[in-house]
Amino acid sequence: MKAKRPTLREILRVIFVYREEARIDLFALFPWLKSFFAHRKYFALIRSFGDLAFTVLILAGLFGPQDPSRNAMLFIAWGVWWTSIVLSWFFVGRMWCGFCPFPGLGRLLQRLKLSRNKWPPRWLSKYCAYLSTALFALIVWAEAVFHMKHSPLATAILLLLILLGATALASLYRGQAWCRHFCPLGKIIGSAATLSLMEFRALLERCRGCQTFACKRGKDGKPGCPVYLGAYAARNNLICLVCGHCVPLCERDSPRLFLRHPLKELIINKGRYLTCTYIIPFLMASQFARFVQEKTSWYPGFKSSLFGSEALAFSFLLAFFFALFLLVIRLGAELFTIYEDELFGRFSPMVPVLVPLAFTGELVYRLEYLLHEMGQFFPVLGRQIGVPLLTGLTFEIPEKAIHLFLSLILLAGLAGACYTAYLLARREFEGLVPTKNLVLIIGLAWLITAFYLYFVRIY
Ligand code: SF4
Ligand code: SF4
Repeated sequence: MKAKRPTLREILRVIFVYREEARIDLFALFPWLKSFFAHRKYFALIRSFGDLAFTVLILAGLFGPQDPSRNAMLFIAWGVWWTSIVLSWFFVGRMWCGFCPFPGLGRLLQRLKLSRNKWPPRWLSKYCAYLSTALFALIVWAEAVFHMKHSPLATAILLLLILLGATALASLYRGQAWCRHFCPLGKIIGSAATLSLMEFRALLERCRGCQTFACKRGKDGKPGCPVYLGAYAARNNLICLVCGHCVPLCERDSPRLFLRHPLKELIINKGRYLTCTYIIPFLMASQFARFVQEKTSWYPGFKSSLFGSEALAFSFLLAFFFALFLLVIRLGAELFTIYEDELFGRFSPMVPVLVPLAFTGELVYRLEYLLHEMGQFFPVLGRQIGVPLLTGLTFEIPEKAIHLFLSLILLAGLAGACYTAYLLARREFEGLVPTKNLVLIIGLAWLITAFYLYFVRIY
């Protein structure tokens, strides 16, 4: 029997009114979407284009002009590429990882049987979360300290190092061990994907009694899930790459893409995952440190007092803000009055409240760069490839429009944070959180947003 098409009102209700069980099967609503996932040639085509663009980008960084006003790879890498990834978090979860060019070379080695093809050892999954979080911290630190956004060579080296890591692990282990265990970008994309409007899940009633588990193990010589998960085990957005690899493997037509309420996973998880507990305060700390470094008039004096060392000054700010956000998380937990449960174990209820602020903050930081620099893209490209005609194609987006746009995004993040706090306090921990505590938690979210708004205002 054909499923009834949901009305626009029902779709909007799913997106805006939180009900844990409410979701819309997008494969049933748009059958072409399912065939896009099922026919792997579309993915292969997009991946090949990405691999090619990525190679050009690295070559331009390594061998192109090092003057930022003559090398368009900087704007493409930091402005277009990274900003698009950040934007995609909110809509399609980790789907970017399904197209990511970093595992491309490793996949080729595996196809040529130049890999040991072993399963990753247990210790890798046990300790990798710490290592990849540390790698992410290192990238953010290096980006700010070495001013990577202005250095084609440093940007290309960063991309090459990640490519090297992904290729090395692919030559040791089957599938995409790098993406599952190590990738620092994957960790942050996974954490952000918990806020996504979509989720990739199996219809568990169809999985009942399945003997093949082809989604995980593969079938007829075709490999299974590249991150050793399988559709039936995808219970959150942290690991699943939304690559759709399992769609044609499953004989029971179980894997699905669903539209859901974006706060659903945050409410269900309640800050239970260790990676989010460290990544969120670190990400927010790095944003505040980057804003201070790039925008405040007192930063140069502060740097001079630390022997003029960018590394020392930025590290100090990063450590200071990190400690501050850990304190906010601790204070939030006290205000919620509950952070341990016999069934659930320990959790950090303030983390889900901060998640919308952290990721809209990151989007705003990246968009600000994109919107300020985009008017200069053609002149920079023109100088790089020697086409003077392009150098005249310049434009500027009015500062007020940028400010308004970014402020609206931050306010949307604040609305998400307040709604999360309300749902946790009034539904999940019903009767446990006094009203004055809820007001204080929401007040903390307002205060943090006020700082973001202040930083966005300065240019
Ligand atoms: S998704 Fe398909 S292959 Fe995987 S467990 Fe369910 S029914 Fe089996
Ligand atoms: S569960 Fe399916 S969509 Fe998710 S990563 Fe594995 S193969 Fe890809």
